[in-house]
Amino acid sequence: MSQQLRQKYLRYIPNVDHILSKPEMVQLGNRYPKGIILEAVRRGLEQLRQTIMTAQNPGELDESIFSFEHLLPQFMEEIENQVKPTLRRVINATGVVIHTNLGRSLLFEGAIEHIAQVSRHYSNLEFDLNEGKRGSRYAHVEEILCRLTGAEAALVVNNNAAAVLLVLNTISEGREVIVSRGQLVEIGGAFRIPDVMNRSGAILREVGTTNRTHLKDYEGAIGEQTALILKVHTSNFRIIGFTAEVELKELAELAHSHNLPVMEDLGSGCLIDLSKYGLDREPTVQEAIKEDADIVTFSGDKLMGGPQAGIILGKAEYIQRIKVNPLNRAMRIDKLTLAGLESTLLLYLDETSAVREIPTLRMLTYSHDELRKRAQKLYRKIRARIPSGLRIGVRDDVSQVGGGAYPIQSLPTKVITLKIDNGAVHQLEKRLREAKPPIIARVSKEEVLLDVRTIGDDEGDLIVDGIEKSLRQGL
Ligand SMILES: *Cc1c(COP(=O)(O)O)cnc(C)c1O
Repeated sequence: MSQQLRQKYLRYIPNVDHILSKPEMVQLGNRYPKGIILEAVRRGLEQLRQTIMTAQNPGELDESIFSFEHLLPQFMEEIENQVKPTLRRVINATGVVIHTNLGRSLLFEGAIEHIAQVSRHYSNLEFDLNEGKRGSRYAHVEEILCRLTGAEAALVVNNNAAAVLLVLNTISEGREVIVSRGQLVEIGGAFRIPDVMNRSGAILREVGTTNRTHLKDYEGAIGEQTALILKVHTSNFRIIGFTAEVELKELAELAHSHNLPVMEDLGSGCLIDLSKYGLDREPTVQEAIKEDADIVTFSGDKLMGGPQAGIILGKAEYIQRIKVNPLNRAMRIDKLTLAGLESTLLLYLDETSAVREIPTLRMLTYSHDELRKRAQKLYRKIRARIPSGLRIGVRDDVSQVGGGAYPIQSLPTKVITLKIDNGAVHQLEKRLREAKPPIIARVSKEEVLLDVRTIGDDEGDLIVDGIEKSLRQGL
């Protein structure tokens, strides 16, 4: 019986040409390309077909679903879906500050303005304004990087993975690089030290054990073929218990006594000692330079809070060789990134400004009191507009640093909890994800959690709108 009804309804689906001939659709033809409109109509009608085929009880379908008036908004939405970018802004309510899937670090306003200016106008990207001739794009950040870190020279590339690859290829192609077995890390997105080393042409020489590596292990591995000693910051994991790793300072002494360079891949690249602001101690870039690393690499968009970039610092003789490696051109930093990076670095000249204005640092260093106030404010906003059926609360929870940094740091935070009477929390989480802009929340047991740490100051109203619409659609 229901099968017959389905067949009958399928015959009711209007045909494409009929729809395209409607005046409203002809009008749309002035604004959108024909192909986009045609595709939107096809998708809209396909949805209608799906509705008929999947309806539990086709008898309950309202015949108005076949009317053009009913279908037009769907066609419009399908047109929108095709012409609007798929890469779009979302609200991060997860509490993961450096969220790799949500774009890692946010830029501070000055960096965004600088990027806009450099992209809107011509710039002196590779032009020396004093000499009136060709200049170097790297010059814009080299001096400030050296000033901030104490390094002799600097170079920036597309990201830290590229930085590591480029350094290894330049310094140690065809020769051995000594690394502790406790530091053969995998970073998210399949960046694995042994694989990168392999592709760089360097030969991995593992020493020590997973939990303990000593200076004598490195010493015993040094030979004719050795090109470099590499220390990798185990960004995203910790080995605890019976452990030992060799300090950078000792590795540098050992390497230098054999006329070898030592490199540290710091990963996160902290330029400020964050233990002053309540986080655990992390080695800073300045310390690595002071401890006599010949080369240091780190990301621009992790703890530094700038754009995606790979920063290479170190002794001039090595940086010079890296600069002229032909592979460098393939990993070149683009001008927009360079602008964002330069402004961010300049902000670090004053630590207080950096912590206050760089979003990543600001979010990581909120005081308990600030978090409590933010939670109260958002709670009241939601409370004032959301109908019954949703139970709202505020409670303590923990945020994460993210970005493969501080894997065991717990950051006490405040979350708004949303609970619905029929318990459909996963449905609510999904609806919030479909909101405009999408709200990305956490689910814990029977609650949806909104962590106020990563929610922007001006995002409260958007969140309330999102919740309201989700509830109106019914869960
Ligand atoms: C994150 C990380 C990388 C990769 O850096 P990207 O900027 O993501 O390319 C390399 N090494 C370490 C130790 C890291 O933590």
